[in-house]
Amino acid sequence: MINASLKQLSAALAEKKISSVELTQLYLDRIAALNPTLNAFVTLDAERSLAQAKAADAMLAAGHAQPLTGIPLAQKDIFCATGWRTTCGSKMLENFIAPYDAHVIQQFNQAGAVNLGKTNMDEFAMGSSNETSYFGAVRNPWNTNAVPGGSSGGAASAVAARLCAAATGTDTGGSIRQPAALCGISGIKPTYGTVSRYGMIAFASSLDQAGPMARSAEDCALMLNVMTGFDERDSTSLQREKEDYTRDLNQPLAGLRIGLPKEFFAAGLDNDVAECVQAAIAEYQKLGAVVVDISLPNSRLAVPVYYVLAPAEASSNLSRFDGVRYGYRAPDYTDLTDMYEKSRAQGFGAEVKRRIMIGTYVLSHGYYDAYYLQAQKIRRLIAQDFAAAFTQCDVIMGPTSPSTAFNLGEKGDDPVQMYLSDIYTIAVNLAGLPGMSIPAGFGKNGLPVGLQLIGDYFKEAQMLNAAHQYQQATDWHQRAPQHI
Ligand code: GLN
Repeated sequence: MINASLKQLSAALAEKKISSVELTQLYLDRIAALNPTLNAFVTLDAERSLAQAKAADAMLAAGHAQPLTGIPLAQKDIFCATGWRTTCGSKMLENFIAPYDAHVIQQFNQAGAVNLGKTNMDEFAMGSSNETSYFGAVRNPWNTNAVPGGSSGGAASAVAARLCAAATGTDTGGSIRQPAALCGISGIKPTYGTVSRYGMIAFASSLDQAGPMARSAEDCALMLNVMTGFDERDSTSLQREKEDYTRDLNQPLAGLRIGLPKEFFAAGLDNDVAECVQAAIAEYQKLGAVVVDISLPNSRLAVPVYYVLAPAEASSNLSRFDGVRYGYRAPDYTDLTDMYEKSRAQGFGAEVKRRIMIGTYVLSHGYYDAYYLQAQKIRRLIAQDFAAAFTQCDVIMGPTSPSTAFNLGEKGDDPVQMYLSDIYTIAVNLAGLPGMSIPAGFGKNGLPVGLQLIGDYFKEAQMLNAAHQYQQATDWHQRAPQHI
């Protein structure tokens, strides 16, 4: 059962082979056994999960089931969910219990899905290894000395270790795709504005986008069907008709034009990762796709541009955590200013403080023009590169991450090395495009390698089909970690 796809689980529930309560208990037992090692979940509430499962069983019995009714999912701890603690991986929100549901949570509740718990993450989604969490690092189920990637590291680890059927993540610069790659699962960041950010704690609002993390492209499509949709409470939510992302899943790939950006295969990419990606491209050619060489000349500026813009937005978004209304307040202080200072100094971790300082600096008088404005201009150039590329190809492919999972502590002292983990994913967020990572083999050390797919705006269905066809022809996505 733990290896079943969402479609198979849905069928098993409909045929009464298993109840949602039984399925939920199965996962809760696995979590109880494996979470002490993996640290993938920060909050569990079995009673709440089982109550939801019971309600789902009633929906199933009454014939009101939808495709995800009764299926146990894990929610990244960045989504507010009524009654659940929502920490965003921070001491600042250690005891914050959300009084309302994020739009994404609401959608899953309406679909009758079960919330198994909240997954660990880098503090305020800032990181690529899940080591910045106040609740401790998450471990990679393929090798527990290795990181799972970040910031949605808990979600990736949980999905890979079969602690849930599927999970949610968020991606500001790669946080769905990079951990998906490092843990050998599938994950998609949709076009910016497709999934409402209401109730999703903000990091960099012009880049943040939620999406599913699951074991296959087909499962991602089913999850995305529930997550998307217009929401007037998010001013950047797009007013578009609801799509069925499974609709194109069986299209043949004959004639599909795959763009290979030369910049994604240059120095800095590990050999074993490059080999897996090349083998995947060869498989696509066997399936009838054709390869086109393209160039994204400004993509080399994506990381520096991101590390101006994302911290700028973060410094503004995180100013709300001041110890006054909610969140951590320092126990001892002399006056209001002292209370602000101590609460923020004690409530935020080192990486978050680094971002707030960078962001405040690049927005300050005299530096705004030199850094922030410049970065905005280059952001536009990066988007224009993609627009030009999509006149030549249908989908862009390359590596998701320059290496397989690195060891815990390996990049801890070197933020720039850590930032380079997202060198292939960040440009996609800057342009607002949809991007996805799927498993495409294993590196020298036996750890998973991810293939990245990048689509044009609103081409998720086509991209999911390209991923699904590959998964029909290969079995990388079915491999499960054996030693956990
Ligand atoms: N690793 C990147 C960062 O640290 C991206 C994080 C994300 O996508 N949330 O900012």
